[in-house]
Amino acid sequence: MTEKEYIHFHRPYMDDEEIHEVADTIRSGWLSVGPKTLLFEERFREYIGSQYAAVVNSWTAAGHLALEAIGLKEGDEVIIPTFTFPATAEIICYFKAKPVLVDIHPDSMNMNAEAIESRITAKTKAIIPVHYGGLPCDMDEINQIAKKYRLTVIEDAAHALPSWYKGKKVGTLSDITCFSFYATKTLATGEGGMVCTDNEEIQKRVSVMRLHGIDRNVWNRYANAGSWYFEVIAPGYKYNFTDIHAALGLVQLRKLEEMWAARKRITGLYDKGFKGNELLILPKHFQDRESSYHLYAIRVNEEALKVSRDQIIQELKQEGVGTSMHFIPVHRHPFYRDTFDLDLRDYPHAEKAYHTVITLPIYPGLSDKNIERVIETVSRILQNHKK
Ligand SMILES: *Cc1c(COP(=O)(O)O)cnc(C)c1O
Repeated sequence: MTEKEYIHFHRPYMDDEEIHEVADTIRSGWLSVGPKTLLFEERFREYIGSQYAAVVNSWTAAGHLALEAIGLKEGDEVIIPTFTFPATAEIICYFKAKPVLVDIHPDSMNMNAEAIESRITAKTKAIIPVHYGGLPCDMDEINQIAKKYRLTVIEDAAHALPSWYKGKKVGTLSDITCFSFYATKTLATGEGGMVCTDNEEIQKRVSVMRLHGIDRNVWNRYANAGSWYFEVIAPGYKYNFTDIHAALGLVQLRKLEEMWAARKRITGLYDKGFKGNELLILPKHFQDRESSYHLYAIRVNEEALKVSRDQIIQELKQEGVGTSMHFIPVHRHPFYRDTFDLDLRDYPHAEKAYHTVITLPIYPGLSDKNIERVIETVSRILQNHKK
């Protein structure tokens, strides 16, 4: 057998442009918050089209500060989908509040909006919808429920950059939207996150709390010689972004739609390559929504196969095709299961997804030859195990 190239599940799309921009930052002497952080925040805000944007060092920090800004308290409840990364749930626990999980809809893989209303209590303060793989949730329906019960909507848009719902960009659809710039996300700075909102109060609170609760910007503190004075109005956090990360962010933002177009194209090739294959279920597309195409999640047809999804993943790896699995549902993690006494039978669609999903490589550097190889290898392995 000839040695085949290993197809990685993910590779960041960076080149000399990012390297030059980071080198420029190092030469500038601004290693933490500085002019590039400000510039990136403003360029990002412009791109999204929100009134305000506050950059921080992760989605987790962004989500934490969003909940802090709405005044979440011990004993409060926040509704989230169970089919998400644990960060969506943990930020709620920071306040000794309770994450209330809802199942997903099997078509969109997003939280089932119809299931939200039955989980609302007098203690519910917010809903955090997650746009799985970048496909926007039904935001009209979620906003309507939130309005009816006076809840805040905080979107987990870690996957949804850029995504559109009824022609409007994610980041402009609800009260607060949080983005991630983690290494594997669609705009990668290594670590990073952003809070977008049209609410001035929220913006002010997040801006203060992201840097020790200091009530003004640190760059002003250093810009005016002798201006050493500052005041702390609350015990804040150390969640600031840095100019080194902003250097990457500025270049990545310029490439954002080019990278999006590449992932959209790969999605089209996968859709075509797997079309009609009854051994798997393909991601669905929606007329009124445009995805970021962050993930390409197939689901294997368990009933038609002799082996488990895990075996398929193992064989793909042996053949040099790297894949992943998004997500282990929150209700399966011991902490959440035990603390909130969760029963997996309450989340049948997330359970089904947990047992059948495989996420395939999808990034701009993936060559046509390798896209073809992924399609061929997945199809052949599934066929080998057909009942
Ligand atoms: C990656 C991710 C997060 C966490 O983002 P960080 O920037 O690593 O904190 C939150 N939610 C979802 C859905 C994610 O995929």
